[in-house]
Amino acid sequence: MLQQTQVKTVIPFYKKFIKKYPNLKSISLATEDDILALWTGLGFYRRAKNIYRTKEIIKKEYKNKFPSKYEELILLPGIGQSTAGAIMSIAYKESYPILDANVKRVISRYKKINTNKNDVVKTLWSLSKNLTPEKNIFEYTQGIMDLGATICNIRSPNCLNCPINKKCKSAFKNFEIQYKVKKERPKKKIFFTLAHSKKSFLLFKKNEKSFWESLWIPYDGEDFKESNILKEPAKRKIKTINHALSHMELDITIEIVDYKTPFKIKSNLEHQWINKNQIDNYGLPKPIRTIIENHD
Ligand code: SF4
Repeated sequence: MLQQTQVKTVIPFYKKFIKKYPNLKSISLATEDDILALWTGLGFYRRAKNIYRTKEIIKKEYKNKFPSKYEELILLPGIGQSTAGAIMSIAYKESYPILDANVKRVISRYKKINTNKNDVVKTLWSLSKNLTPEKNIFEYTQGIMDLGATICNIRSPNCLNCPINKKCKSAFKNFEIQYKVKKERPKKKIFFTLAHSKKSFLLFKKNEKSFWESLWIPYDGEDFKESNILKEPAKRKIKTINHALSHMELDITIEIVDYKTPFKIKSNLEHQWINKNQIDNYGLPKPIRTIIENHD
């Protein structure tokens, strides 16, 4: 959950998740939808899909026991070199280096490394390996992550209160931090048709390998009206929303169409009429969920 997301954003999602799935046994029968449902609003849904794939592997190949070797962990979906190192050192107390964003910052400042060089990641991994102790690995790993998160901040490092300020090559230096200029995200226009009847909404499981993959969304074509026979007069309402993803801005127009009764449609896509009271059981993108929650 913490990949590319701040702790304060993650806390309510984590609490809800761990309440429902406190251990591997409890998550073993969860469907991908069950897991995606708990992810609604947290974004980066690939992480939820990876949790699903990983727990399936653990169930089938490790009899629901979490693997304890680095070589096994690194093969699980969503677990890279740094996460595997963190699990080994924090959960199993074995000496493995880590290099998440916070640790990269601490090490590069501590050793005064030019982070603009092409092979900087290789250099930082090598330094991380050299700095990682054999003993007290739990304390070291937790400590360096916390140092980066709370003291060696991106914009204003608190060198005065830093426990490594005597050895740090950047301590108290008025060094200029080069921030990457944020590129303007490309904009994408999407048009949805959201059919509604008797508090149920017709939603489709997105099977495209792009953003919102595997989430339940309204029909995203222009031809909905033509592809379905409207036997009854319907009330229509247009809503527009702007929604920012990490890599693009979505300019969403949703036409909500009210029908007297739910109807069957022919579609190759997995689809369902989902009752408003049941949406907690499905993974929906946040803006779609908000629209449904607010529609009478
Ligand atoms: S002394 Fe300052 S720059 Fe160095 S690690 Fe500590 S907070 Fe970061």
